[in-house]
Amino acid sequence: MDKIIHATAQGGGVRIVAAETTALVNEAVTRHNTMPTASAAYGRMLTAGALMGSMLKGAQDSVTLQINGGGVSGGVLVTGRAGGRVKGYIVNPDADLPQNAQGKLDVSGIIGINGKFTVITDLGMKEPYVSSTPIYTGEIAEDLAYFYTVSEQTPSAVALGVLVDVDGSIQKAGGFIIQMLPGADEMLADLITYRLEEIPSLTTFLRDGNSIVEIIQYIFEGMDLNILSEGTPELYCDCTRERVEKALISIGEKDLQHLYDDNKSEELICHFCNTKYDFTHEDIGRLLKEIRS
Ligand code: ZN
Repeated sequence: MDKIIHATAQGGGVRIVAAETTALVNEAVTRHNTMPTASAAYGRMLTAGALMGSMLKGAQDSVTLQINGGGVSGGVLVTGRAGGRVKGYIVNPDADLPQNAQGKLDVSGIIGINGKFTVITDLGMKEPYVSSTPIYTGEIAEDLAYFYTVSEQTPSAVALGVLVDVDGSIQKAGGFIIQMLPGADEMLADLITYRLEEIPSLTTFLRDGNSIVEIIQYIFEGMDLNILSEGTPELYCDCTRERVEKALISIGEKDLQHLYDDNKSEELICHFCNTKYDFTHEDIGRLLKEIRS
């Protein structure tokens, strides 16, 4: 079951945000009909977006993550909000490659490594806060950990995993971000790094039927784990016909007139949720009338 938790360990020296996102990712990859490698890349980014979104306080706050290293995926963009709500898209849902040398889906291969990992945090100030780091491995979790360490000076361990079933559906998905808070004992970071190296991978834990709470309890056994909150991450979209109309109008009166004169209908698709919005010849005529009135 999808769940997102916030916790601390070692008397608050460590912050933990962790989630199972199987249903969420499954819904997204079904909507976008992604190929397996694209599903893995997209699912990891959605999970990262849900985790980071859940760290926001205000309902209007958002964090947008973007990765594009020149690979065949064309890049992935996700936006997370408070409560672990997330939306996003992969530019090329058909991006797929043979498995890599480790027998895993080649996420790095379809993302590419020549580009940036960008995080845009919008807290309702005049300007959003934009920060980016070079893509580190293109596997996404490492890129996010690198971003936190280099750009935010917050040493972090990040895991993001998506298991794609033989039928293309999502068997399991989830992730965690573990951060050392300022003033935390340096030995603590070493201890956690050591522990994470010793234990099975997050996807193995999930595949074996462990809940996200059980996994975090296992990792932080004997380390004063304190679960602060539990919630449900969700896929969302905020597109409406009105917004899509505005986008259509924004092509300009002249182009809209051309569409109308060609007696064409127009189909616009929301990048995020793949909903189709149809505009008939009459609809386009009405929009022309509106912008001229
Ligand atoms: Zn939408």
